[in-house]
Amino acid sequence: MVTVPALMWFRRDLRVRDNPALLRALESGEVAALFVVDPLLWSGAGPARRSWLAANVQSLAERIPLTLRFGDPLEVVPRTAGDMGADAVHISAETTPYGRHRDAGVETALAGNDVRLVATGSPYAVGPGLVRNGSGGPYQVFTPYARAWREHGWSVPAHTPRSPEMLSLDSDPRAVDLLAEAVAAAPASLPTAGEEAAWRRWRHFRDDLMATYDEDRDRPAVDGTSRLSPYLHLGVVHPRSLLADLGEGAGARRFETELAWREFYSDVLWHAPTSAWEDLKPGLGAMRYDDPEDAIEAWRTGTTGFPIVDAGMRQLLETGWMHNRVRMITASFLTKDLHVWWPVGARHFLDLLIDGDVASNNHGWQWVAGTGTDASPYFRVFNPITQGLRFDPVGDYVRRWVPELDHLPGKLAHEPWKSEVGYEQDYPLRIVDHAAERLEALDRYQSARA
Ligand code: FAD
Repeated sequence: MVTVPALMWFRRDLRVRDNPALLRALESGEVAALFVVDPLLWSGAGPARRSWLAANVQSLAERIPLTLRFGDPLEVVPRTAGDMGADAVHISAETTPYGRHRDAGVETALAGNDVRLVATGSPYAVGPGLVRNGSGGPYQVFTPYARAWREHGWSVPAHTPRSPEMLSLDSDPRAVDLLAEAVAAAPASLPTAGEEAAWRRWRHFRDDLMATYDEDRDRPAVDGTSRLSPYLHLGVVHPRSLLADLGEGAGARRFETELAWREFYSDVLWHAPTSAWEDLKPGLGAMRYDDPEDAIEAWRTGTTGFPIVDAGMRQLLETGWMHNRVRMITASFLTKDLHVWWPVGARHFLDLLIDGDVASNNHGWQWVAGTGTDASPYFRVFNPITQGLRFDPVGDYVRRWVPELDHLPGKLAHEPWKSEVGYEQDYPLRIVDHAAERLEALDRYQSARA
């Protein structure tokens, strides 16, 4: 019997292990694997993001024969499928607005050639849209969503062969070169790419850090969280695989809840695609925002004069990652101390974060800004000084990222204005008066809601 080959198109599922779409493709017969460097996504990503993507694609290409192509997937995927005579293109379903739109276009183009686009699984344990409230609608609040998400449950990991035999096609030199250049330019801080590295990190977290995760996860100076978000973002590891290996205890339950946040935000975005760049809730549509160019630049470069804010923004600039607690503090500072509309900050984060994910990032921003899913936290204005003192009580995080403050002992690093030598290493003065801006933010919120 002559079997018709199939194409497996990798996107946010750069792994072999527990990959249901790959398993389904392999079950259908001979399969070639494809990764397309999409110029639209590539040009929008900052250097660290590109390096991270490129390094993980290369790592996958060391495991399986991965064909690399460059161009608009709408043309490249049908052409590649046509050239090899495939009757099906297999994918893990994409759930972001851009991904859904792109896949719909590719599906139509393939159908014109009698080729099927077959979606199996998604980047989530429970695909967006599957958890519904009593009236069949989406959840707007996290806690009831998380309860229903747990009740819904997820399937067991798929047993994909570790080194599947696959067809080999020619790669496009342009794609090969772009990826190689991005890897060569990788910042030293980039985590090790690839599935093995993801699993090593997971095992370290599970065995050594999980027991104290519940207490340590809010301490930016401590290596207390999984640091798996960059791997999860590209699907180098699937959340279902981690949930199946969690174990018991407060740390494990807390970790499960954090994964539920990721799933919740994907669900919210799936139901409300415009919320990627617009307020989810219309309640603050009348809000007055500012566009203070110099202050935004100070925020971006970590020179606001608020130590915890500057430490976070510099960690982001240097490494492409920032601790969750500090993401909240820096986002609050931009939106509530500088009165800037959240998409400005979300764009900057997305460009730089190696885990930059439109659902988690943009809804994380909306949560802080008070336009998102939570029950109106408009009055929640983080105080960057007390937050710093509380979550980085001995100042280690600040001294690590802000060298101008590394001569100040203990908590003094958070309040250089209290030391006679606080500014002797040219640390900038505070660009705003937090107490005054807090009142201004509350005033604007009240007027917008009136
Ligand atoms: P852990 O504490 O080990 O958590 C485990 C996993 O749970 C994470 O890897 C992540 O996948 C998920 N998770 C944890 N917290 C959240 C959360 N609040 N929302 C959604 N998922 C969560 N996360 C991203 O993955 N990409 C982003 O672009 C992103 N942008 C953010 C922007 C802002 C303003 C805020 C407040 C949060 C953002 N987050 C984002 C969520 C969170 O900060 C990161 O997931 C977390 O810091 C990643 O580190 P970790 O893997 O060590 O987390």
